[in-house]
Amino acid sequence: MESTILIIDDNPDTIRLLSAMLREQARVLFATNGMAGLEIARAQRPQLILLDLQMKSMDGFAVCERIMADPDLRHCPVIFVTAATGIDNEIACLDAGAVDFITKPLSGPVVQARVRTHLRLQAALASLDTLAHKDGLTGLHNRRFFDEQFAVEVARHRRQGAALGVALVDVDHFKLYNDHYGHQLGDECLRSVAQALAACTRRPGELVARYGGEEFVVLLPNSCGDDVLRYGDWVCEHVAALKLAHAASPVAPQVTISIGLCSLAPGTDDLPALLLEIADKALYEAKRAGRNRAMLGAPASATRLAS
Ligand code: GH3
Ligand code: MG
Ligand code: MG
Repeated sequence: MESTILIIDDNPDTIRLLSAMLREQARVLFATNGMAGLEIARAQRPQLILLDLQMKSMDGFAVCERIMADPDLRHCPVIFVTAATGIDNEIACLDAGAVDFITKPLSGPVVQARVRTHLRLQAALASLDTLAHKDGLTGLHNRRFFDEQFAVEVARHRRQGAALGVALVDVDHFKLYNDHYGHQLGDECLRSVAQALAACTRRPGELVARYGGEEFVVLLPNSCGDDVLRYGDWVCEHVAALKLAHAASPVAPQVTISIGLCSLAPGTDDLPALLLEIADKALYEAKRAGRNRAMLGAPASATRLAS
C-alpha cells in the first residue's frame, strides 16, 4: 500500500520543493496553514507529517501539540522542518513529540533518507499493532483489543447516558465436535462461526472479538434489553442455518451456539465487570435450558446499580 505524507508549510516554494523530493516515495498531500493541515490529517490519516516550525498563524509547535492531543492523530509521526538550528531548538522539537527534524536548506538525499526510515518504522509498527490486536485463528479482534475498546465504549456511554449491551457467545458441545471430527476441523468450524458472527455484527460501534477458546464476545452500543435479545436470537438462527454438520451433538444435527446477553444503563462504577458477569450467568442459563438459544440476564439486585 502506498504511504501518504502530509506537508504543512506556509511557503508554497518549500511545499513544491519537498513534493518533488518525495514524489517517488509516497503520495504527497499539503496544507499551507496549521488548521487546514489538522483537517487533512484527520480525514486522510497520513503515515507521516512534515511540519514547518515557523508559520505565521499557528506555528509548528502549536500544530504538533494539537496532533499529540488528538487520539486519532497522535500515532502519526511528525518531522519538523526548520531553518532554526541549535541544540535548544532540537530539544524543543523532540520534546514537542516530533520523531525527527530536518533543517533548511533542504537536501534531497537527506529528506528522502529520513522519510524512508520513518515510513519503514511506521509500517513495522502498523503490522505489530495488527498482530497485537488480531486473533490468529479467526482473524477477529482478540481479547486484548476488546478490553481496550470496552473501556472506551463504557466511557462514551457514561457521557451519553445510553445503555450498553454485551453478548457472550459459546459453541455448543464443541468438545464433542473436536472428539468426533478432529482438532483441525474444529479450527475450521471456529473460523466459520467467527465469520458468521462478523457478518451479523456490522452496525457502527459494534465489535466482535474472540474471547478465548470457543467463546466470542460482542459489544452492542446503544442497545437496550430488547435490542440485545433480538440480536442474540438472530445470531443463533444465523449460525444454525449455516448447517455445519455436528453429528455428535445431542442438541441438533448441526453446529449451534448459546448466547448470554446483558444490557445496562451506565449507572455503576464497575459496569464492564458487571455486564460480563451477568452475561456469563445468562450464558450458563442458556446452556442449562437446552442450548441453541439466547438468554437475557438481569442484575441480581437493583441496589448494585445505584451510582
Ligand atoms: P458446552 O456446550 O457446555 O459449551 O460444551 P463444550 O464442549 O463446548 O464446552 P467445553 O468448555 O467443555 O469445551 C470447549 C472445547 O473447545 C474444549 C477445547 O478443546 C475446545 N477448543 C478451545 N479452543 C479451541 C481451538 O482453538 N480449536 C479447537 N479445535 N478447539 C478448541
Ligand atoms: Mg466454552
Ligand atoms: Mg462450548
